[in-house]
Amino acid sequence: ELHRRVPAVRRDEIGLLARTMNRMLDRLQRSHESRQRFVADASHELRSPIAAIRQHAEVAQAHPDSTTVDELATTVLAEDLRMQHLVDDLLLLARSDEEHTEPPRTPVDLDDLVFAEAERLRTATNLTIDSTAVSAGQVRGDETALARMIHNLADNAARYARSRITFALTEEEGAVVLTISDDGPGIPVEDRTRVFDRFVRLTPARSRDTGGTGLGLAIVAEVVNRHHGSIRNISGATFEARLPSADVDR
Ligand code: ADP
Repeated sequence: ELHRRVPAVRRDEIGLLARTMNRMLDRLQRSHESRQRFVADASHELRSPIAAIRQHAEVAQAHPDSTTVDELATTVLAEDLRMQHLVDDLLLLARSDEEHTEPPRTPVDLDDLVFAEAERLRTATNLTIDSTAVSAGQVRGDETALARMIHNLADNAARYARSRITFALTEEEGAVVLTISDDGPGIPVEDRTRVFDRFVRLTPARSRDTGGTGLGLAIVAEVVNRHHGSIRNISGATFEARLPSADVDR
């Protein structure tokens, strides 16, 4: 009796173990592939400013007395800046891929961060910045990272807006909800989720002109996820970030 039962149990256990192992291997494989893709994409992105810098330096070297050296130097500096942004963004993402630590539980007033960003845009652009629907929204986390998240969304809004950007901050059912919208073309429905992927640009020419890295929204998603929140493009040019309120226990 016992003799017959034991192998049956073992078969079950072995089956379970095999399935678990397979799942783990699949996950490892996927993480390995996404890492490889990240490195390949990053190298590809870095290649273009490096090539531009080399090209301009070669022209300057060939025509040392030319009056265009000044112009060449300006382009080199712009490309250098672009590369600097790219490297900063890459490091930020690579670091948060490595870190599996929780962000701090320090109280952060999102309204202060929103007002600071709105003020920056009022000075830096000619757009109408509406931040009247901003109420106190306290969350817990990493203030620098949260400021960066708001900055990236606001920067995109400023890049695509025709004349107006609207910030709203409300509280509902234990969550702080931040929406940022602009009156520009927005995101096509079919691209709504993939815009948060690394290196995705829907408007390559325009993004390249304006120094976009294709990492802005990926960083937004990273910050929000690390804070146990969610980020969505809810319609056209409206982005919604939801974060747990400071008084919610986790
Ligand atoms: P980047 O702006 O550096 O290209 P992002 O990750 O910030 O990268 O954005 C990805 C793409 O999503 C942009 O290239 C752009 O096509 C699109 N996008 C982001 N925000 C907006 C917006 N507010 N309006 C229209 N398109 C946007």
